[in-house]
This record gives sequence, structure tokens and C-alpha cells, in this order.
Amino acid sequence: EKFLEIRGLHAAIDGKEILKGLDLQVNKGEIHVILGPNGSGKSTLMNLIMGHPKYEIIAGSIAFEGEDLTTLKTYERARRGLFLSFQNPEEIPGITVENLLRTAKKSIDGENIKIMAFKKSLEKTMATLKMDESYASRYMNVGFSGGEKKRNEILQMMMINPKLAMLDETDSGLDVDAVQIVSAGVKHFHTKENSCLIITHNTKILEHLKVDHVHILMDGKIIKHGDATLIDEISENGFLHLK
Ligand code: ADP
Ligand code: MG
Ligand code: MG
Repeated sequence: EKFLEIRGLHAAIDGKEILKGLDLQVNKGEIHVILGPNGSGKSTLMNLIMGHPKYEIIAGSIAFEGEDLTTLKTYERARRGLFLSFQNPEEIPGITVENLLRTAKKSIDGENIKIMAFKKSLEKTMATLKMDESYASRYMNVGFSGGEKKRNEILQMMMINPKLAMLDETDSGLDVDAVQIVSAGVKHFHTKENSCLIITHNTKILEHLKVDHVHILMDGKIIKHGDATLIDEISENGFLHLK
């Protein structure tokens, strides 16, 4: 079953072409990994899928479950089941983790959630991620360490329960234990009913996941596809030999 389908995507930021003809298909139940050197366009791709207004589509299409996404606003894409965990999560003073999650969930699911049921589910998810309960009442990411912010991103993903979860270097800057927790969180989240698109430089996060497809993005194009063995090949030889 087709989830995400990108065809011939060319896109620019501030008039500079970053993606130069990109095709990608992610089906329901699959885990895809995008590898590529810094500046190759990985974050640009995820931002485009999510509908960040600063990127301009020059040509090509992005569809989800057969529906064209390109005219939809970010919140409408979120309602369709898309989620993006940012490379650099933002701090939001004045809004607690619990409130933000409850508001996001309500806005995405379009229905009121029972407060006690929500609290229970939040507590349970935080326990899975080995997060102290006190984080629920702290302001979003304010004073959080890099690792805590990343863990908080995984908490959001698990609570929102999207169809397609995109993780942009959610593991960067994490210590070994935190990588394990993030990795376990992704594993816990992933089912036959949803898909993950993961950008990472830290292949440790992938060790316990069954990766279906790997794509190498260089200079705005996917120059190679493969299975999980491509991860080891890149770890050993780097990207440059592919050029
Ligand atoms: P990656 O995530 O693979 O490291 P990015 O998608 O963040 O790469 O960036 C792709 C390219 O877009 C880089 O060359 C970067 O310098 C360029 N870029 C990002 N933002 C802007 C901008 N505002 N103006 C011009 N170029 C930009
Ligand atoms: Mg980068
Ligand atoms: Mg990036």
C-alpha cells in the first residue's frame, strides 16, 4: 500500500535549487533511511514533505495516500498523518509539554480527549522512554539538554501516533544510553500500519530496527538505493567513493 510518493521533485530555497529531481516511494509498514553528506538536501526534503513555507517547489509532486500534498498547509499534512521531528527542536516558553501534546493531539485527531485517559497514556509513554514524569509540567524544551530534547521529540511522535514519522537526525548529540532509548522508542512506535523515514549519521540507532530501504542523497538527488547492507558499506567507505 502506497503511503508517500515523490516524483521528479525539484525545489529551491531563496532562489537556490537544492533538490534536483528526486523520486522516493515509501509504503505502509516500511522503514526507510536516508543517508548523505552534510548539505546534500536531507532536511530540505523532510521540510518539503511537511510543507515548510520557506521552500519552493519548482517541479514534481509529493503525494500521500494518493492525495497531492503540495497545496496543503503543514497542519493539514499533520492531520493526514505526517509527523516531522526536527533536527533542532524549538524551545517554547509558557507552554508545558503536557499542554502542547494535548493541544497537538486534539488538533490532529479533531476530537476532545479525556484528560485522565490522556494523562495515563502520557505517563505510560514517558515511562517507556525512561523520562521522569516531572517533564510533563515543564515548558517545552526550555532548559532541556540536547538529549532530553531528542527524547521529547520521540515522546511527541509516540503520543501523536502518525502514519508516517520522519526523524531528522533525532539521534545526533545523544550519548549511548539515550541513543538506545530513542531507538527503542522508534521500535516501539513502528508497526505494520505506519512507516518511518529516518535521517541519521549515527547508525547505532538503526541496529535494532528492520530497515527495508536505504537511499543515498547527494547534491539534491538520490544516487543510490539499497537494502540495509548499504548502511555498513557507507559506514566503512563513506560517501565520496560513490561520486
Ligand atoms: P542536509 O540536511 O543534508 O545537511 P540541508 O537540506 O539542510 O542539508 O541543506 C541543503 C543545502 O541547502 C545546503 O547547501 C544549505 O547550505 C542550503 N541552504 C539551506 N538553507 C538555505 C538558505 N536559507 N539559503 C540558501 N541556501 C540554503
Ligand atoms: Mg546535516
Ligand atoms: Mg539536515
